[in-house]
Amino acid sequence: MKEFSFRTRKKDIGELDGRHFQVAIIGGGITGAGIVNILAENGIKTVLFERNDFAAGTSSGSSKLIHGGLRYLQQGKLRLTRELLKEREYLLENTDIVYKQDFRVIIDDYSWGKGELTLGIFLYNILAGHFRVQRMIRDDLGLPGVKGYFPYYDGVTEDTEMVMYNIAYAQQNGASCFNYTEVKAISRTDNGISIQYNDKVDNRAGTVSADLVVNCGGPWAKEIRELYDRNNPGKLSLSKGIHIVVDRADLNINYALVFRSHVDGRQLFIIPREKITLIGTTDKFVKSPDDFSIPDEDVDYLVESAKRLFPKLSRSMVVYAFAGIRPLFGSGDDPGKISRDFHIERDSSMIDIYGGKLTSYRAISRKVAKLVASELRVNIRTRGLPVLDYSRPKGEDRIKFEAMYECPVYPDDVKLRREAAQIYNPKGQDQVRKEAESVLKSMEQ
Ligand SMILES: Cc1cc2nc3c(=O)[nH]c(=O)nc-3n(C[C@H](O)[C@H](O)[C@H](O)COP(=O)(O)OP(=O)(O)OC[C@H]3O[C@@H](n4cnc5c(N)ncnc54)[C@H](O)[C@@H]3O)c2cc1C
Repeated sequence: MKEFSFRTRKKDIGELDGRHFQVAIIGGGITGAGIVNILAENGIKTVLFERNDFAAGTSSGSSKLIHGGLRYLQQGKLRLTRELLKEREYLLENTDIVYKQDFRVIIDDYSWGKGELTLGIFLYNILAGHFRVQRMIRDDLGLPGVKGYFPYYDGVTEDTEMVMYNIAYAQQNGASCFNYTEVKAISRTDNGISIQYNDKVDNRAGTVSADLVVNCGGPWAKEIRELYDRNNPGKLSLSKGIHIVVDRADLNINYALVFRSHVDGRQLFIIPREKITLIGTTDKFVKSPDDFSIPDEDVDYLVESAKRLFPKLSRSMVVYAFAGIRPLFGSGDDPGKISRDFHIERDSSMIDIYGGKLTSYRAISRKVAKLVASELRVNIRTRGLPVLDYSRPKGEDRIKFEAMYECPVYPDDVKLRREAAQIYNPKGQDQVRKEAESVLKSMEQ
């Protein structure tokens, strides 16, 4: 495998100024990562710019579910649910970073009706291609007030890992992916589109040109569009969701739970993951895509809601909390009701992607890759793509491997977005950071 590290990054970015590419992608979250994967596989000369680390935006703040969304079904969004379930089934079957997770929808005084759930889960299974009638299982699970549950399954993954695998695979196939490189200006010239960037590691500016720009800015997509065209920003609403993490020993279940909060009737998840349990999420409008603050009242709301089922839970058990900003295409009074579907706008210079989900990244990537091909007038293959033919070894040498092939620049890049140790291993996170620091230092020599 070719090295893709801070060392190769330094050399490659030193030779970047003045180069021409067929496509320039802005944004190194899951959307940009999926698209660069397909374009590289097809031999299209592509550069990807990410102004922070890869996956530093929404793609590290999700619930990490690969799901059709029972809630979307309840809102009557049958087509969206069917498409997401198709992606879920594909990712479960064809990758080893998406796992099947058993879920139980809790029936208690605050839950949905039994009839509604029997029909909903039947439809959910049918849309995924399985004929299965599920009735309520009378088992109180030992949780207060619980009368029974409806079982179903969805997929779980690690969002940052999904991004890294796509980026690493694209880089191996000839793409040029740069983290810590911010796009500052976009303009039309005689040689196509000119893109000015700033390398934040060495504070060095440069310019490349491209035949086409693909805006994968997630919650920043509007700002990126405005770098090129102030008069035509997309209709993006932003909604913040926070999750809290507790030690598995403090809340230990072997299945994931879906329940309705007694505080406001919203649907929430409790998902066991390795040494921890994840509780989420909130859904509140924010004005700025940079508003990653974690309000105390949101943490209290999640604790209070879960406490009804797990009375011993307390605020002091929360070991970590994180926020993500949903890019939602559309507007309305309630962020929960704005569609989670994606929307693409295009002209001859730029393709903008608004909205979407982690689960739908393959569908988005294929659709955008076809538009790119038609704009560039080239033939490409999208069937079965993007593939994830890259994986980390298990065991001791993993951090060395990540440092060599996934381009972390700083030790925190390994801790936060290669190992995600702050979530999965809060007690061991400092050790992970130390190890990353020593690996990166040893590579300097
Ligand atoms: C709380 C929450 C829970 C969610 N749960 C799920 C779930 O369980 N399942 C699911 O399928 N989906 C889920 N989602 C949705 C999913 O996480 C997002 O749809 C997806 O991560 C968006 O990816 P993206 O690549 O479009 O955006 P991002 O990941 O935000 O990537 C955009 C990138 O653009 C970069 N950027 C911005 N401006 C510039 C610039 N000028 N130059 C260079 N780079 C720039 C940013 O730094 C950022 O990294 C959830 C979202 C949230 C917020």
